[in-house]
Amino acid sequence: MASPLIGVSGLQGAYREHIRALEALGARTRTVRLPQDLEGLDGLVIPGGESTTMWMLMDRMRLLEPLRDALRQGLPTLGTCAGMILLAERVSDAMEGQRGLEVMDIGVRRNAYGSQAESFEAEIELELGLEGDNEPFPGVFIRAPILEDPGTARVIATQAGRAVGVRQGNCMALAFHPELSGDPRLHQQFLRIVEEYLTKRDG
Ligand code: GLN
Repeated sequence: MASPLIGVSGLQGAYREHIRALEALGARTRTVRLPQDLEGLDGLVIPGGESTTMWMLMDRMRLLEPLRDALRQGLPTLGTCAGMILLAERVSDAMEGQRGLEVMDIGVRRNAYGSQAESFEAEIELELGLEGDNEPFPGVFIRAPILEDPGTARVIATQAGRAVGVRQGNCMALAFHPELSGDPRLHQQFLRIVEEYLTKRDG
C-alpha cells in the first residue's frame, strides 16, 4: 500500500510538530488551509492551538462545511486539544457563537484544569488493547480541555483515572499534545485507523 496522505489543518496551532511526527512514521502530509486541500486525503489531523481562533479561521476559509462532510463520510481524523474541542458535539465554556464540527458524541470543557495547572506533564495510561499499553505515555497538557463526558465514545487514554483520550468510529480525540512528547504510539495508532479505512475503501 502506498504511504497514506494525511492532511494537517494548518490555519493555526501546533501543526508543524504533527507533520514531523507523521512523516517520521512514513506518512505523506499536506497542510490544509483551503477546501480544495481536502481533496484526496486519507486522513486528517486537527492540532492543538486556540479553538476559538481556529474555528473563526475555518469559518472564514469556508472549511467548516466541507470538513464536516468529510468527517461524516468517515475520513479518519485525529483531534488534539483544541482539535478535540472542534470535534466535540458538546462544548462548555465556548465562546459565544462558537460551533465546532460536532462529529463526536463527547462533552468537553475548555480550559478546565484551572489557572494553577494551565500546563503540566503527567503520565497517561493507554487502553489501546496493544502490548505497548503497559508503558505510560508522557502527556503534555497545555491549557487543556477536560473531557467531561465521553458519551458513547470508547476511552483509550486516562490520566489519574480521568478520561483524556477517546475513539469513536474513525475519529480519535486527545486532550493533550502527543506531537510534543516524542512518543510515536498515538500517531501510530491513528495511522492504523487510516490503514483499516483504506483497506475498506480501496479493497
Ligand atoms: N485552551 C485552548 C482552546 O480552548 C486549547 C489549548 C490547546 O490546544 N493546547 O482552544
